[in-house]
Amino acid sequence: MEKKWVYLFGELDQALRYVQNEWERVRGLLGGKGANLAEMNRLGLPVPPGFTVTTEACNSYLALGMKFPESMWEQEMAALASVEQKTGKKFGDPKNPLLLSCRSGAKFSMPGMMDTVLNIGLNEETVQGMIEATSDPRFVYDSYRRLIQMFGSVVMGVPDEPFQEVITEFRNKKNVKSDAELTAEDWKSIGERFKDIFRRYNRIDFPTDPYEQLRLATEAVFKSWNGKRAIDYRNAARIPHDLGTAVNIQTMVFGNMGNDSATGVAMTRNATTGEKKIEGDYLINAQGEDVVAGIRITEPVENMSQTMPDTWRQFVGITQELENHNRNMQDVEFTVERGKLWMLQTRDGKRTAQAAVRIAVEMAEEGLISREEAVMRITPEQVDFFLHPQFNPESKKAARTEGRILASGLNVSPGAAVGVVAFDADLAQSWVKKEGKKVIMVRPETKPDDVHGMLAAEGILTSRGGRTSHAALVARQFGKPAVVGVASLEIDMNQRLMTVGSQIINEGDWISIDGTTGEVFLGKLETMVPDITDLWLMKLLTWADGFRRLGVWANADYPHDAKRAREYGANGIGLCRTEHMFFEPERLPFVQKMIITNQPTERREALEALLPFQRDDFLGLFRAMHGLPVIIRLIDPPLHEFLPNYETLMTALTDNKIRLIHARNLKEIDDLLHKIEEDEHVLIRVETLREANPMLGLRGVRLGIMMPELTQMQVRAIFEAACQCIKDGVEVHPEVMIPLTCHVNELIAQREALETVAKEVMAEQGIKVDYKFGTMIEVPRAALTADEIAEYAQFFSFGTNDLTQTTFGISRDDAEKGFLIDYIQRGILQENPFETIDEKGMAKLMKIAVELGRKTRPDLEVGICGEHGGDPKSIAICHKLGLNYVSCSPFRVPIARLSAAQAALRDPKNL
Ligand code: ADP
Ligand code: MG
Ligand code: MG
Repeated sequence: MEKKWVYLFGELDQALRYVQNEWERVRGLLGGKGANLAEMNRLGLPVPPGFTVTTEACNSYLALGMKFPESMWEQEMAALASVEQKTGKKFGDPKNPLLLSCRSGAKFSMPGMMDTVLNIGLNEETVQGMIEATSDPRFVYDSYRRLIQMFGSVVMGVPDEPFQEVITEFRNKKNVKSDAELTAEDWKSIGERFKDIFRRYNRIDFPTDPYEQLRLATEAVFKSWNGKRAIDYRNAARIPHDLGTAVNIQTMVFGNMGNDSATGVAMTRNATTGEKKIEGDYLINAQGEDVVAGIRITEPVENMSQTMPDTWRQFVGITQELENHNRNMQDVEFTVERGKLWMLQTRDGKRTAQAAVRIAVEMAEEGLISREEAVMRITPEQVDFFLHPQFNPESKKAARTEGRILASGLNVSPGAAVGVVAFDADLAQSWVKKEGKKVIMVRPETKPDDVHGMLAAEGILTSRGGRTSHAALVARQFGKPAVVGVASLEIDMNQRLMTVGSQIINEGDWISIDGTTGEVFLGKLETMVPDITDLWLMKLLTWADGFRRLGVWANADYPHDAKRAREYGANGIGLCRTEHMFFEPERLPFVQKMIITNQPTERREALEALLPFQRDDFLGLFRAMHGLPVIIRLIDPPLHEFLPNYETLMTALTDNKIRLIHARNLKEIDDLLHKIEEDEHVLIRVETLREANPMLGLRGVRLGIMMPELTQMQVRAIFEAACQCIKDGVEVHPEVMIPLTCHVNELIAQREALETVAKEVMAEQGIKVDYKFGTMIEVPRAALTADEIAEYAQFFSFGTNDLTQTTFGISRDDAEKGFLIDYIQRGILQENPFETIDEKGMAKLMKIAVELGRKTRPDLEVGICGEHGGDPKSIAICHKLGLNYVSCSPFRVPIARLSAAQAALRDPKNL
């Protein structure tokens, strides 16, 4: 049997059979537009008759070097005959001509990227037939000139300007403002002039043979798949290049046949807010492209309820039916020809994150989709979007209408950013740090030594590079809005300016970039931080909570972070880092004294001074987390981090020694001597604490073992605070976490020293605290001996940052500054293991740790507290590993709640 290249709209079942009844594959075969037209036809909705030439035909055409595959044209002709029969009209018949549109349509919608030609079949003879049939020469000549114009630009590549010039010329000549005021005669003459233009550009006459028109239009649509516009769009939207486009040949219907005719577009819900209300634009007495082209001012579609109430009622019914049928918000095109409504297109509508959430929730409440589906429909990025500043839609709309949209590129890192242009990293940094400016760093592309500028900037804009460029990776990593690969942007580093076309932007000028859409605007747009109190998002996340098995905890060091985490829905604190508290100015001197002194009494005094500070820290945290667990990690970083820098000390010391030589008065000499002595003392301590590899040096549990007084003080502070809370009626569940354990004996020694203090405090206060002792698992040896370790740990928390470092033998700071980005660009690593858990390697260690740990202690609580805890892919891995919770930054908590639910819903064990 010969291959079927062409399907009538009525042959959907055949097409479905060909692809084993998979709707996705039918969309691949017929394109989204074609599949949906056929589907609307099957639902019995009014669709102008037509047929679809498949994407397979397109791919064959391109593969054959621009030749139609065998029998394709014959099949097209056969389908055309069937359409003629249905409509009772004949293609090319001077008396009762059938006119056609030739429309592109790929699997994924690429709005406006490829081409469509309307009114195919018109020529000198059929024009006469149409005039007789419609008694409306004005409409017919208008349609004819549109064909010449569209055919010229789509098929032959004639620019639109000369055509527009002619129309403007006629408007001026007749002294009228709008096209609507031009007469039949005017359009007829304009048509003649258009043919001239066509001839001049192409050195051939406009083809008057309807079949020739149809053939050329079909070819043009095939070719438009590889047009620059389409390729760029696919690159940006990550649509594969080998899908091809289908061609839809469809009977023309006319919205420009008088005041009982109209054309328009509409969405079944508001695409910005998600509100359930038809939104759209329409025009009376106009043809399709007039609405989108903005040639005439459109009217809100709901005005149809006044101008054509019956049609409006029918339209509302149909859109509702389409929405119910497709179970999604629809974006439709329609035309009314002399009071009769025709549906020309439907597709799932594009929408903002806010609209996506509201629509999903409301559809679930309407019973159109299940709550599970609602949760699955929202992406973690969309939730993230609620927490990033974004442009005020009004301000953006205004900028667009004022023509302040400058260019667009790849939307690689979401969010809105406003700032003045700075063309290099040093300037960006100094403007931000020294002058308090807001900066957008603009570069042709970025390199690792630009990172300081990128970090200082509000956003990043580059003219080159793609989704995995350095700029894109770094921007996403640090949550900086970024637009890259803006090809129309010319940067002149010598003159310190950039141009887009004739527009010049100097260094220091304000621009606004939208990393969510890839748009770049001139001037300052207003931003707003969207509210997480969004009712629909809250509801969706509550549903998600019902589906997930993983707990979502937060990393928070201060009560205000804990409070935010709780508001965002955290079920506990998975990591409170205590060392941050030591850096505060009123505490640091005590911390330094404690480290520097050799005298036990001095050390005790310093620790006693620190105790009340720490106790207050924990009090605040416990109160904020009333009723929920709080994991407190004992001091972790190497001690030298709390001391002055060696080089700085050295310089100060030398300076003072030189001053001493020149000093002439006794007091000055005394003071200097005292200072020098002090500094020398500190220097010796700093020198002894200096390490070649601090990351692998005296830190974590090792510190607690070498300097037990310090961690004992911390435990005392924790338990005193807990007892105080209990007295105040606050429910507390402190969990003391020992970092960096690699041998069970470390844990034995440390737990023994600490639990003694805990018991002491509880005895002093006469209060029993519900507590746990546990450890971090952040070196491979700990994971491999987890059965031993679990004997002495009531919980495990994977420190995935250190565990990644120790698994890979890579230091994060060194790697991300240099080779890691290169590794990812070269594909040596697919992903940054510091962002997403390395599933093949590190996750195996985690698996071993979970299994061994639970073998010893079945109720062992296991979670993770690295940055991975907020990464959707890593969360899915944690779900698979059967962890109890993930802990992440408060801002990632909503994302983690959704991701954990999605991991659970995707888990085949749940099916
Ligand atoms: P796009 O994908 O860019 O929207 P379309 O193929 O949908 O391109 O067509 C462009 C315009 O022409 C739309 O407004 C559409 O409604 C209109 N149009 C297409 N085919 C017909 C037809 N057979 N009759 C009337 N208008 C049509
Ligand atoms: Mg369309
Ligand atoms: Mg660590």
